[in-house]
Amino acid sequence: MKPKVLVIEDNEQNLYLITFLLKHHGYDVIQAMDGLSAIEIAMKTHPDLILLDIQLPEMDGYTVASRFRSESAFADVPIIAVTSYAMVGDREKSIDAGCTGYIEKPIDPDTFIPELRKYLPSGRKDIDRKETAR
Ligand code: MN
Repeated sequence: MKPKVLVIEDNEQNLYLITFLLKHHGYDVIQAMDGLSAIEIAMKTHPDLILLDIQLPEMDGYTVASRFRSESAFADVPIIAVTSYAMVGDREKSIDAGCTGYIEKPIDPDTFIPELRKYLPSGRKDIDRKETAR
């Protein structure tokens, strides 16, 4: 089965780019544009990994991360914060909020997938045939 990645991102261009990269590398993608609907969708779909934009409308990414961590079903799911390169303090704050790691914006199409694969639970890493064939 393909690893399922829940992408929580309110910027349409970023959402498009991240979705494109993930699908191109063989991942299943679930999209959400705000925290509340993301939590709702995650309950139903059980993603293998969550990519979380920090700057979201209404509920920010830190709150979303701590909400996920308060649910036992999501205690072990990797949550990767997508933080702005300029906002250095965001990285520590995301880890404090329960995120597993972070990837910096702007998204670099060449390093995004290798970065993300570091956080996938083992056994779910070797599906990426296009990546290794390159
Ligand atoms: Mn945003």
